[in-house]
Amino acid sequence: MRAIRSKDTVPELLIRRALHASGLRYSLHRKNLPGTPDLVFRQYHSVVFIHGCFWHGHRGCRYFKLPQSRPEFWRQKISKNTANDAAAVAALVRTGWRVAVVWECALKQKKPDEMKELVGRIHNWITSADETCPAEFSAVSNPNTDKPWPSSTRR
Ligand SMILES: [Zn+2]
Repeated sequence: MRAIRSKDTVPELLIRRALHASGLRYSLHRKNLPGTPDLVFRQYHSVVFIHGCFWHGHRGCRYFKLPQSRPEFWRQKISKNTANDAAAVAALVRTGWRVAVVWECALKQKKPDEMKELVGRIHNWITSADETCPAEFSAVSNPNTDKPWPSSTRR
C-alpha cells in the first residue's frame, strides 16, 4: 500500500490548474504548517486541502466504504487520519489561517461549466474577507458526522 498522502493526485492537479488560471498564486505542501496543506494562499491567509474521500473518511459520501477485508484495521486507520485532519484544521484556525477542504467527490463527474462554477466558489472563498470560517466543498449535502462509516459488506 502506498503512503497515505500521495502528492499531486489528479483531483489536486485539476484544482491547482483551475485556480492558477483564475489568477491565484499559491505555494504547495508547506510542511511548516499543520497538516501540510495542499495549497497555501499566504496573501489571503488561507489554505486548501484536497481530500480523497476514502483516505480521509468522508462521512455520508458514496465514495467512502470500508473495505471488505480487515474492516477493523481500516476503520482504525481512517479514524486516525480524520483525527489528524481535525487537529490540523484546529491548529491552523488557532494561528489565524482560514481553511477550506475540497473533497474529491466535489470534483468527480463534473461537466466543464460545473467545474468552472465550483472553482469560482473556491476562488471567491479564498479571496473573501471572511476571517473565521473553515469552508467545505463537497458533493455530500448533509454530512452526518455521528453516523458510522458504512462497510462494503453491508447491503
Ligand atoms: Zn466525498
